[in-house]
Amino acid sequence: MKPVALSPKAREDALAALGSGRELDILVVGGGVVGAGCALDAVTRGLNVGLVEGRDWASGTSSRSSKLIHGGLRYLEMLDFRLVQEALRERGLLVQRLAPHLVRPVKFLYPLTHRGWERPYVGAGVLLYDTMGVTSGNSRGLPRHRHLTRHGALREVPALKSDALIGAIQYWDAQVDDARHTMTITRTAAAYGAHVANRTRVVAFLRQGERVTGARLVDVESGREFEVHAKQVINATGVWTDDTQAMADTRGQFHVRASKGVHILVPRDRVISKSGLILRTDTSVLFVIPWGRHW
Ligand SMILES: Cc1cc2nc3c(=O)[nH]c(=O)nc-3n(C[C@H](O)[C@H](O)[C@H](O)COP(=O)(O)OP(=O)(O)OC[C@H]3O[C@@H](n4cnc5c(N)ncnc54)[C@H](O)[C@@H]3O)c2cc1C
Repeated sequence: MKPVALSPKAREDALAALGSGRELDILVVGGGVVGAGCALDAVTRGLNVGLVEGRDWASGTSSRSSKLIHGGLRYLEMLDFRLVQEALRERGLLVQRLAPHLVRPVKFLYPLTHRGWERPYVGAGVLLYDTMGVTSGNSRGLPRHRHLTRHGALREVPALKSDALIGAIQYWDAQVDDARHTMTITRTAAAYGAHVANRTRVVAFLRQGERVTGARLVDVESGREFEVHAKQVINATGVWTDDTQAMADTRGQFHVRASKGVHILVPRDRVISKSGLILRTDTSVLFVIPWGRHW
């Protein structure tokens, strides 16, 4: 692996390689976390890989997430154990081995509002969550959950109304700068030899019968169009997946159903708290997540 910068010169070199007429093993379309991950996976298997992004790295959903690296406590309640197990294993790997410089532990307080059933119910869920994290083999980087009285909870989150809770449970997950994480994966893929170019859009696909054999690209900086041939083309265009499939004139296996989340940025001093919060709403959950000098 040779360290590289995602510089204008590196981009020019990548565009020259992509436009050289040499067939790639894999062309990945879309420079979000999924496309960057595909490119890194493929290039570290020794394949000749190209990765193109129409705008900038992580300019789609991958810079607009809630920035949590979590197992998904909510999915545990939906009894999706396999998903939670896999996510916790990946969380542990990220915190401990893959990106400890980017992924940091973060604590959340779950306020309890009902006497009787709620503490055993939520407590059992969080205990299972922690246990699955430990049995995944990688979770020792995160502290275990703890039960708090009302006073203990208010010490952690003085901003809460004291008559709005009867106690709380605090547990740990992790968070990441999502755009930086995607950029780092892209740069690592480039360091292993992937030809990566941002501001390079796929405008059409090349076909031989039913097979997609490459793509027509436009360098958005210069307006120059050129073709790239590839044995396999991966569509990693996130919410644009349907548009990309339509360009290829294929039905594709996936149909995207967009889901919406809302983030509100609040200066840190407006909510006096030492901990993040997870709160139930009628249909989903509301997180209050620490983010630099903001929530
Ligand atoms: C509100 C919200 C909160 C979330 N919070 C979390 C969270 O806390 N933790 C978590 O793990 N996940 C979270 N997610 C999910 C996560 O953000 C997504 O799963 C992830 O970012 C998807 O990445 P992607 O690479 O598939 O898509 P994207 O990041 O959208 O990447 C697709 C890329 O394709 C490019 N593209 C499109 N068409 C073309 C073309 N023709 N040519 C070239 N490039 C093209 C786009 O410019 C874009 O950059 C959240 C999602 C939402 C909506």
